[in-house]
This record gives sequence, C-alpha cells and structure tokens, in this order.
Amino acid sequence: MIIQLKQNFSQYDASAIENKLALNKFVFLHVDTGKKQYYVCNGKHEIDLRIFGGLKGVDDIFRVTDQYKLVSSQWRIEPTVIDLGDGIKIGKGNLSIMAGPCAIESEDQVEQIVAHLVKNKVHIMRGGVFKPRSSPYSFRGLGLEGLQMFSRVCRNNGIKIITEVMELNQVDDMIDYVDIFQVGARNSQNFNLLDALGGLRKPVLLKRGISGTLEELLQSAEYMYSRGNDQLMLCERGIRSFENTYRNTFDINAIAVLKEKSHLPVIADPSHGVGIRRYVPVIALAASVAGADGLIYEVHPTPELARSDAQQTLNFEESARLIEKLRSFPIAVCN
Ligand code: PEP
Ligand code: MN
Repeated sequence: MIIQLKQNFSQYDASAIENKLALNKFVFLHVDTGKKQYYVCNGKHEIDLRIFGGLKGVDDIFRVTDQYKLVSSQWRIEPTVIDLGDGIKIGKGNLSIMAGPCAIESEDQVEQIVAHLVKNKVHIMRGGVFKPRSSPYSFRGLGLEGLQMFSRVCRNNGIKIITEVMELNQVDDMIDYVDIFQVGARNSQNFNLLDALGGLRKPVLLKRGISGTLEELLQSAEYMYSRGNDQLMLCERGIRSFENTYRNTFDINAIAVLKEKSHLPVIADPSHGVGIRRYVPVIALAASVAGADGLIYEVHPTPELARSDAQQTLNFEESARLIEKLRSFPIAVCN
C-alpha cells in the first residue's frame, strides 16, 4: 500500500498515521521526492484500506500488490517523464536517442561525435569514463579528467551527457558534469550505490543485470525511488543465455513487459544487446516497435579503432541511417 500525503500535512498528522500503521503491523518507509511525500507500507493484504482514508493528512491511498511499489504501474498510471532541461525530455511521446562511444577517448573524438549528433538532431551523448572491463589489461577509461572534457564540449554544444558511475565514491566528483547517471549491468544490484543515487535529484538510467530478472531490475529501481529519486529509467541491454552466436540475447519481451509493469521510461540498448554491429539497427527498430521510450547505442568516428566495444559500434553513416529509420517508423501503429 502507498499512502500519499497532503501537501500541508502536519507532524501531528504524520505521527497519527504512523501509529495506525504500526498498530496494524505494517512495516513502512517515509519517502520524500521533493514534490510529494508518501508512506510505502508492507503488511496485510486483506486489510480494509479505508481505515487510513479518514486520517488527517492523507491525500490518497493505493493498494499495490507488486513487491516493488513506487515503480509499479499499479500505483502510478501516468508515465514518468524525465526532464533534462532546455526542452529535452524522455518518456511519454517521442523516441529519445542517446548515442556515443563506448568509452570517451579524446577531445577530438568527442568533438567529432558531438558534430554528428548535432547534425542529426540528437540531444544526448553517451560515453564511459569509468569503464567496467572483463580484463584488467583493457582500456578502463579517462576518468574524471575525461569527464570534465566530455562535459565541457557537450555543454558548449547544447548536448546532455549520460555516463556510467561505477562506485559510491565517484558520485560526488561526477555530479556537476553529468546529466544522467548510468548504472551498468554489473552494478545493477549494487545496493549501496543505488542507495546513494536514490538520495540525489538527478536522473539515473538503470541497466538490467547480466543475468538479472525483470523483478530484480524493478526492485533495484525501487531502491532508488524509495530514497526519493523519481527520475529513473529502466534499460534492457541483453541477458546472458545459452546462445553464444552473439554477445548477449536482447530480450524484446522485456520492453513490452516493463512498459506494462512500470510507469518508468524503458530504454533499449541494442549495442550491448546483440553485440554485433550489423544487427544493431534492426534490434533498435524492433525495440522501438515493442514500445521503448528511447535507445542508447554506440557510435564512433572509426569504430574499428575504438578502444572498447569496437565490434558493436556503428560508424556515422550507419548511425545517421538508423536515426532516420527510427524517426520515420510508424510507431503509433504498434502502440
Ligand atoms: C556500456 O554502456 O558501455 C556498458 C558497459 O554497458 P553494460 O553495463 O550494459 O555492459
Ligand atoms: Mn560498451
């Protein structure tokens, strides 16, 4: 159950609600998103919720049977919209495109990609500066200095940034340079990191774990929402399966199912989802038809020379063609 509080509730009202919850053996958490305040309550399903409805300070009550509550569409029907400022929004409407290299490599590389994005009217650039790599000998990113350069070039050109945060102690250093924090697949259940990001008022894109279920993904999002961060997106990026013809198995089902189960925007990552460059566009289009609110994919001026994920990265021509197809696709027919 979620109890939504009135804007003008008093401390006295809150204590009365808490007492009643405790009396009825509910475990509850007070959540403040900065816009509204709630009690998220876990307890008896059979109880008559009207006993709370009459209490002062209560605005509305919702029965939510899902394990996750605040990210559930049982609670909120209206889709969440992420507002990045300057008129750039994600969710409920147009398909958002986020594109860029797997890793930020140099100022020249960033400038070339920014020019490609500006030319194609894409407003959000991805690019890792802290890279999770399977081998310790692989390129692990340019770090904070790289992020500062990435941010400077993008801001000069009106482009927003999404980049991966890998651990707790990077958050404070990164926050001023980032528009969206990305939580990577390997950190999808790093609950301490999720707690910290939940305490921010900054958008977060949460990737599905390499072997993560949708329930686990939604619970991880709930970690952040329950700390008050309501600017969240879910990302399908392929899962590990028995199939080894391609890097990962992009789970198209997940797009449709997450759209139904949650009010959060759902973003598709076809680059990691299939891991082979020539299949990326068709998987991107499929995700769009399935109802994705956005796409995040890898593009590089010279993919063959990319320092990470070269095999799944599009060149500018392929990227431009994909953008054009995505924009001319009759999505409305499918929704
Ligand atoms: C990435 O976006 O480059 C990345 C490492 O993604 P994932 O966490 O999905 O593997
Ligand atoms: Mn990558």
